[in-house]
Amino acid sequence: MTSNLHFLIIPLMCPGHLIPMVDMAKLIAQHSVTVTIVITPRNAERYATVLHRAIASGLPLKLLQLRFPASDYGLPDGCECVDDLPTFKLNKNFLDAYATLQQPLEDMFNSLKPTPCCIISDKNLSWTADVANKFRIPWVVFDGMSCFTQLATHNLWVSKIHEKLGDLDPFVLPGLPDNISMMKSQLPGLFNPGSSAKAKELKFVRERIREVELGAYGTLINSFDELETKYVDEFKKIKEGRVWCIGPFSNSNKNDLDRAQRGSKDVINQECMKWLDLQHNRSVIYACLGSLTRLTPLQFIELALGLEDSQHPFILVVKGGSRTEEIEKWLGENGFESRVKGRGVLIRGWAPQVLILSHRAVGAFLTHCGWNSTIEGVCAGVPMIIWPQFAEQFFNERLVVQVLGIGVGVGAQRVFHLEDEDAGVMQVKRENVCKAVKIVMDEGKEGEERREKAKYLKQMAEKAIEDEGSSQLNLNRFIEDIRLHTNKGVVG
Ligand code: UDP
Repeated sequence: MTSNLHFLIIPLMCPGHLIPMVDMAKLIAQHSVTVTIVITPRNAERYATVLHRAIASGLPLKLLQLRFPASDYGLPDGCECVDDLPTFKLNKNFLDAYATLQQPLEDMFNSLKPTPCCIISDKNLSWTADVANKFRIPWVVFDGMSCFTQLATHNLWVSKIHEKLGDLDPFVLPGLPDNISMMKSQLPGLFNPGSSAKAKELKFVRERIREVELGAYGTLINSFDELETKYVDEFKKIKEGRVWCIGPFSNSNKNDLDRAQRGSKDVINQECMKWLDLQHNRSVIYACLGSLTRLTPLQFIELALGLEDSQHPFILVVKGGSRTEEIEKWLGENGFESRVKGRGVLIRGWAPQVLILSHRAVGAFLTHCGWNSTIEGVCAGVPMIIWPQFAEQFFNERLVVQVLGIGVGVGAQRVFHLEDEDAGVMQVKRENVCKAVKIVMDEGKEGEERREKAKYLKQMAEKAIEDEGSSQLNLNRFIEDIRLHTNKGVVG
């Protein structure tokens, strides 16, 4: 029976945020809580199959569709998701357009039944805190990152030690349970904003997001206690215990259709799956740098040739965006595809990532270490080859390589700022890619140890979401906390 609890989930319309929040909505709804996802029409369509299947199965899940005023903010008509932006220079326009949803949401709030008692919002949507304040309900943030990142971010924000450093000076991240060093050039935009005019504009946006986030009632995390125990414990101390690790979300998609359509209503890529069926166990490298990374043609070439040189079978996901034409031109002129035919498969556009990763033939994941991809790699139990690109991805690389011991970096030295997309720095060469692939695929002791650790973490991830698993218990605790908070409010 559905309880009288009703949570509003407000995601940032960006695959790396919307995908986990849709999973989270389904998970919470499985606990008899009514969940309404605030969404825009195009995204409702993109996620329609997954959402309608969940609703048809009887989950108390609803959609509240609000119009997104794209063209009023200089965005192409119908552009409602960050991966649809023609250029990431429009990021701020996107956030500004999004903030206009506040008024219609407030206007509809009292007509939602039962009356919502909690807002779970993407941390980037600071205006949702005002909505929660207005209706006097808790504002819980979800920012799609690990406790490692949360802790590292908190400690840098407080200590400000990065401010005194040069770009390439190595330093030890303060206050972490392990000794982790990095360079300022590898820090996320909040601490390392870049020098373009756009970057400066975004600096204020990021600082405001951070300040508002600090006032949140609590934080939900797509991770599990056993994965990063020391970091969870430390982060909880900062947040007075109100941190709930309730992941890994991707594991909650039990059937192939849900796995394939996570993030896109397109059907399974049959050709790629058939090719995978023909490959040996644990032999294939799956290479995908997330939903937003658009490698410069120079860097794409190094990645493609590095994979070719490694001699291992591979799947390479190509996302060119505005660079598609140049990349396709190279692919055509170089004869790459015909040369690797049978051994390498290119997927242009959206790949059914979780489905591919769960295939027995995949032996390693070449990833940018966005947090979703990272935790999906953990769930798949495969070691990772890591080429961080932007945001907090170097933190995730450190976690995977140094703390968990299940990955090898390709040696990237600095973040790309998405909004500086013209800055075509050459960072990684084909030799670096090839070397990292070979190290990870090596059948010697070191490679075997990495694989064993990855397998162990996969088992831990599965246990976490079972009944009585840590994430299930944390989700119960979270819901109970909100229930108590709500009842207290009613009693006065
Ligand atoms: N993803 C996918 N197919 C693609 C690209 C991405 O399914 O072709 C999914 C991936 O499984 C993950 C999300 O999109 O759930 C990307 O999130 P992540 O945090 O890894 O990186 P971002 O896209 O935010 O850089």
